[in-house]
Amino acid sequence: MNIVFIGMPGSGKGTQAQKLAQKLNYPFVSTGDLFRSQIEKQTEIGKKAKQIIDGGNLVDDDVTFELLKQGLKDFDISRGLILDGFPRNLNQAKMLDEYLKIDKVININLSESEVLTRIGGRRTCICGATYHIKFNPPKQKNICDVCGKELFIREDAKEEAIKTRIEIYNKSVDPLLDFYRKKGLVLDIDGNPPIDEVTTEINNKLSL
Ligand code: ADP
Ligand code: AMP
Repeated sequence: MNIVFIGMPGSGKGTQAQKLAQKLNYPFVSTGDLFRSQIEKQTEIGKKAKQIIDGGNLVDDDVTFELLKQGLKDFDISRGLILDGFPRNLNQAKMLDEYLKIDKVININLSESEVLTRIGGRRTCICGATYHIKFNPPKQKNICDVCGKELFIREDAKEEAIKTRIEIYNKSVDPLLDFYRKKGLVLDIDGNPPIDEVTTEINNKLSL
């Protein structure tokens, strides 16, 4: 199964996508993580994308899709794949459609006010792990449970960038979801409950 996660920034996509990938033993690929890794390594793509990302805007569709395709080469996706952060608009969904058959779309619903609380407390590791100071703290303060590196607050967690990200999401999401709803692939998930309860709802709806 190839499964895509859609939801407002901060709705819990990455958190749930990683848990599902672990459960199914599928590769987990996040375009946001791929960009952050490029920025850390100061590659050409990273240098060009940094300002766009920090401002809360979307990187060009073609650039992002190329990065995704390159990123996928590192994994064996023959059994399945969990995708987080791509596609984010209809154009990207059409690009992906020609490349990979998507079997399910997990659409996580969360209000804007709750998203702000979540992003405000988010701590991220360059390895891709995500924490929350209150709702999902690491075992040792500010240290990643998975790889031991120091956690950071994302540059795009600033108020203006968050506003922009939410605006872009609101503008893009309906055509994107319509595209997948017409194919009967969308599973709607309530993102409000605690992490483990959201996981249970996703597993139930996927009949896992
Ligand atoms: P997204 O990938 O959609 O941007 P994340 O998975 O990074 O969202 O989650 C945003 C923040 O909210 C993180 O700090 C994460 O630990 C926290 N979080 C995720 N799901 C929940 C939940 N169900 N309840 C409380 N906090 C959550
Ligand atoms: P995320 O970690 O998914 O919140 O992504 C962080 C940022 O990376 C986004 O705000 C965009 O600037 C960029 N990005 C991630 N995925 C995409 C995408 N599919 N299309 C365009 N830009 C993206």
